[in-house]
Amino acid sequence: MTIEFRKIPYTKSEFQSTESGINCQGTFHKDSTRLVLVDLILSGEIDTTCDRCGIMFSLEVNEKTTLKISDGVSEDEDLDTIECHDHNIDFDEIIKSEISSIESDYHYCNNCKTEEGE
Ligand SMILES: [Zn+2]
Repeated sequence: MTIEFRKIPYTKSEFQSTESGINCQGTFHKDSTRLVLVDLILSGEIDTTCDRCGIMFSLEVNEKTTLKISDGVSEDEDLDTIECHDHNIDFDEIIKSEISSIESDYHYCNNCKTEEGE
C-alpha cells in the first residue's frame, strides 16, 4: 500500500495487512503538513535463529510502536524519523523494515532463555 503524503488525512485511518506471516494493523494520520504518525501493532510469529545455540525457532512477535514519517528531510533531531523522499509513503516497505529490525535483534530460544534465568 502506497499513499501520497499530501493525501494522508488529519483524522486517523485504519489499515491492516500481512507481511512475512506477521499481522500488521494500526492507524495513521497526518500530524503536521510534513509529518505523519503511524501507530503500528505487529503480531504473529517469525522464524529466527537463537543467538546462543544457533537453532531455528519461531519467535512470537507482539510489538506496538509509533512511527514518525517525514515528507523529505526531517527537521527534528529524532533519528527514528523515517524520511520519505518521493512524497509517497510505502507502508509495505515501512512494515518490512520494522519486521527486519525485530529479526535483527538478539533472540534466544526457550532453552537458552531458561538457562539465562529470564
Ligand atoms: Zn538457544
